[in-house]
Amino acid sequence: MTRTILCALGVAAAALASNAAVEAAEYLSGIEWAEPAVVDPGGPDKAPSDAVVLFDGTDMSQWTGADQWVVADGAVTAGPGNVRSKAEFGDCQVHLEWAAAAEVTGKGQGRSNSGVFLMDRYEVQILDSYENTTYFDGQCGAIYKQHPPLVNACRKPGAWQTYDIIWKAPRFDDAGELVSPAYITVLHNGVVIQNHFELEGDTPYNRAPSYQAHPDKGPIMLQYHGNPVRFRNIWVRELKDLERKRVHEPKIVER
Ligand code: MG
Repeated sequence: MTRTILCALGVAAAALASNAAVEAAEYLSGIEWAEPAVVDPGGPDKAPSDAVVLFDGTDMSQWTGADQWVVADGAVTAGPGNVRSKAEFGDCQVHLEWAAAAEVTGKGQGRSNSGVFLMDRYEVQILDSYENTTYFDGQCGAIYKQHPPLVNACRKPGAWQTYDIIWKAPRFDDAGELVSPAYITVLHNGVVIQNHFELEGDTPYNRAPSYQAHPDKGPIMLQYHGNPVRFRNIWVRELKDLERKRVHEPKIVER
């Protein structure tokens, strides 16, 4: 027993000595970072303080084409015509909440079809995929015609659902050639359904995806596909990396 205790004490002493050695030196990257801004993260019904609020339940003044979208009870119901945000975005975080019609009519692609388009051309499908099968790269949360959601995280028809989208815009050079593709991560009701997926291009129904050069920023578009899908609480945060300056090569300094 005594030998066991002594042995344990020895191991503990060695670990302490090792930690002391680690703490005696510090790694310095040599990069001077700009100070991260302070953001009030908000809450379930409140956007983060640095977000552009596109719809807070009162009106559709931040959108074009919304003449036939009806605002009531803090939500807007899709009507004839797609709507586009007046503000335009490149890399961004998008939060929106949507609800399929509580009364189920239609099936497959005809059941509460809509979509949120990044930069007016890259669609994350909105569809009532609760116990409703269709082609997998067209079901709810699909990057339309490119990639199904990793899982089906749909709530029941009529229930409010969340999309949280992290978007990395494609880059084009001055000649219009693709320099880097778009990437997307999507959480549906808090569940990751697209994990840094690399897009093959835009998301049309009738041809293969392809990239065509476009401006660095574009509007968010919400699709009207003939179904009265409801939306609420829509906001977007622009994403940009922190400014940095290299002041020396990486090094380890003794403390
Ligand atoms: Mg759609």
